[in-house]
Amino acid sequence: MKSEPAASSFGPFFDLTAHFPRGVFAYFLLKGNSGAAPETVAAFLASRGHEAIKVHRADQVHSATVVPANKTPCEADAIIVTSPGEAARVVTADCVPILMASPGGRAAAVHAGWRGTLANISARALEALGAKPSSVSAYIGPAIGPCCYAVDEGRHRAFQEAFPEIVPRHVSEEPLRLDLSAINAALLMKAGVPRENIFREARCTSCDDALCCSYRRDGERAGRMVAVIGLERRREVPCPR
Ligand SMILES: [Zn+2]
Repeated sequence: MKSEPAASSFGPFFDLTAHFPRGVFAYFLLKGNSGAAPETVAAFLASRGHEAIKVHRADQVHSATVVPANKTPCEADAIIVTSPGEAARVVTADCVPILMASPGGRAAAVHAGWRGTLANISARALEALGAKPSSVSAYIGPAIGPCCYAVDEGRHRAFQEAFPEIVPRHVSEEPLRLDLSAINAALLMKAGVPRENIFREARCTSCDDALCCSYRRDGERAGRMVAVIGLERRREVPCPR
């Protein structure tokens, strides 16, 4: 599946809200946006009608650490949000961005590079979400595709040994390749998320120069894309007079 980007004064983005339960909003800001600072992301959210949202971020260190939003900022690669009016964002430029939410008002933003994927950070974040996996919806955003992600034998073997049912043992292909997006989807399904609840963006960051930041393609000047998910503020219902 490939989403069609919308445009705003902030640059192109995907509105992912329809993939998630009521009360949850989610967006993916593509290449050409003006930054990933929480206040910039909050301004983007306000422009979409989500006013005064507190945006949480973490220092991403390719760990498998999952933290609740009230522990941020700290070093972590997945953030869990449970309070209305709050959101979490991760930034990527080839690594796999994953957003998850349950109908019970819980959401997660995950940054999964090869290290995080190998450590199964997506299933860890799912567990930390504290929701029934069968009720969880997930979005897996643009990431480096197997077309552009050749790896050495050692790394391929590490994945094969960690996930023998997902990464095939005998591959004659040269060079060896990994599909981190597909592996994360398979790990979420293995952990109980129904296939139909997972929306996976079929877009390679390195191939799609027009819309995607790619560190492999552009190095230090790649910039970053932003995946953000949050919980709507509860509307106050006035007492009858
Ligand atoms: Zn590619």
